Amino acid sequence: MGFIDYLFPRQCINCSATGAYLCKSCKKKLEPHPEICPYCHRTSKDYRTCIECRCNKKNYLEGIIIPFAYTDLLKTLIIRLKYFHKKDIGDFLVERLVIAFQANQSFPQNNVIITFIPSHRYRHYFVKWYNQSELLAEKISERLQVPMVAVAEKKKRTKTQASLDRNGRLHNLKNAFSLTKNLRLQWNETLLIIDDITTTGSTINELAKLIKYHYPKIKVRGAVLWRHVG
Ligand SMILES: [Zn+2]
Ligand SMILES: [Zn+2]
Repeated sequence: MGFIDYLFPRQCINCSATGAYLCKSCKKKLEPHPEICPYCHRTSKDYRTCIECRCNKKNYLEGIIIPFAYTDLLKTLIIRLKYFHKKDIGDFLVERLVIAFQANQSFPQNNVIITFIPSHRYRHYFVKWYNQSELLAEKISERLQVPMVAVAEKKKRTKTQASLDRNGRLHNLKNAFSLTKNLRLQWNETLLIIDDITTTGSTINELAKLIKYHYPKIKVRGAVLWRHVG
C-alpha cells in the first residue's frame, strides 16, 4: 500500500466498500450497450451499420462499438474519471473495450490503426490539459499493440455537440477537420476512431467522411465507451 493509499484508502464510488474505486460487485452491475446500428439505432449484430443505412452515401462508418450501457452508475463513473485521475478505473474501462473488440466477429484481426478525434473536449488533469479521446486511443493502442496515428487536425472551434439540435450539430461540424500533413494510409487498413462518448455519432462520421474522401478504400470504424442518450 502506498503512502497516498494509506492516507486516503480507496473506496468504491458506488457502494463505499474499501479496496478499489469500483468494487467487483459494482463492476458486474455495468452492462454492455445493446448491439445497434450507429445511424438508425435499430438492433444490429456486432454494432455494424445495417444494410439500409449502408445505402446512404452520407454514412461513412462500418459501425460503432459501444461496451457500456448508459446507467446512473456509469454516469458517476464518467464524472470521477474525468475530474479525478484514477488510473485503475481508466484501465478497467480500456479492458472492457478490448473485450468488446475481441467478442466482435466483424472486427478485423489485422491491419488496424487507431486514431482519435482531434483537439476535442480537453480535460484538466493536475497541471496539464489532455484530449480525453487521445488519451483513451493511446491506452487502447498500447493494449492492442497496434499503431496510433493522428489523422486529422481541428480547423475551427466547435461548440459542444450535446448542446445543439440535429441541424445545429451537422452545421457545427461542417469542415471542422483537416487531414494531417504527410499522412500515408494503406488501402487495406481499417481505421478505428476512438472517442470516450458519442451522442449521435456525427463527430466520428464527420472525421470518417474526410478520411474516405482521401482514402476511399479504407474501412473506418468507431469505438466509444458509452453513448449518451437524451
Ligand atoms: Zn461497490
Ligand atoms: Zn441502420
